[in-house]
Amino acid sequence: MLYFIGAGAGDPELLTVKGKKIIDSSDIIIYTGSLVNKELFTDIKEGAKLINSAPLNLDEVLEIIFDSNSKGLNIARVHTGDPSMYGAVREQMAALDKAGIEYEVIPGVSSVFAGAAAIKREFTLPGVTQTLILTRMAGRTPVPESEDIENLAKIQASMAIFLSIANIDKLVKKLMTSYPKETPAAVVYKASWPEQKIIISTLENIADKVKEANINKTAIIYVGRFLADEFELSKLYDKCFGHEFREAKDAWR
Ligand code: SAH
Repeated sequence: MLYFIGAGAGDPELLTVKGKKIIDSSDIIIYTGSLVNKELFTDIKEGAKLINSAPLNLDEVLEIIFDSNSKGLNIARVHTGDPSMYGAVREQMAALDKAGIEYEVIPGVSSVFAGAAAIKREFTLPGVTQTLILTRMAGRTPVPESEDIENLAKIQASMAIFLSIANIDKLVKKLMTSYPKETPAAVVYKASWPEQKIIISTLENIADKVKEANINKTAIIYVGRFLADEFELSKLYDKCFGHEFREAKDAWR
């Protein structure tokens, strides 16, 4: 059996209980070495094999999986954050489907949420926006034209941008085609790691601050009015607004 496991953003305690149990009982653990915290592996089984997939290509990873599976070994395939965001898991799943190997996916705390926790913000504020766009700028991996940052910026939603910190100047230029230059922007470097850094600024000034702080990788960029302090109170906890679990206090509602 193979499990894809979301390792969480960095802090080993952000791994789910389920993910930890599976890692600790696996025979073969293949992890994305560039970002997965090695402290996740302090309680693994004696004799378990730890393999860093960073220097391997897809075929080499699959070979290890097929070989281990044919020996009846339990395999944990550990990806950073949550596997569903830029995890390159689907290509592995397709090969497993073809080979008739069963697998399950255990979610993890994506860096997008670990970063929001670090800056103590909510993406969906009443009266501001109810939408979060998760995206990246085109790099070596292209992005469909319809999803170009300039197009997404027109929506004026909360945005969380992965894999783009090295091109922050270009990114900001594209965002400013729709967002006003004073729109709040934030960058979280290595969210939940001891070396975490937080930068809070405006769209106009964020690029300079990022460069001053020498941040050029492993960071997530947030843009939108959700970072500011103006919003309406929620309906969920409004005393005049009843719902499934609580009756409204005002009889007329
Ligand atoms: N599956 C991962 C994303 C992998 S792509 C997840 O859910 O988080 C790698 C990108 O994710 C990095 O370029 C960066 O934009 C972001 N990232 C990963 N870990 C991060 C962290 N601890 N803090 C901030 N950004 C992080």
